[in-house]
Amino acid sequence: MAIDPVCKMQVDPAKAAVKAVYAGQTYYFCSEDCHKAFTADPQKYTGSVPHGEPSGQGQG
Ligand SMILES: [Zn+2]
Repeated sequence: MAIDPVCKMQVDPAKAAVKAVYAGQTYYFCSEDCHKAFTADPQKYTGSVPHGEPSGQGQG
């Protein structure tokens, strides 16, 4: 069972409405709405930055 990264709902990969590959990882979504939200801002949901861009300030 996979976890929809947007709404944190459990999604059966075989029944997922939408799936997407991001940074080499496959994500499954319960609905197109969640997929849209993910594609609009994937880093927000994955918590990872494929190509580190230091867009922040301070270190702590
Ligand atoms: Zn969802």
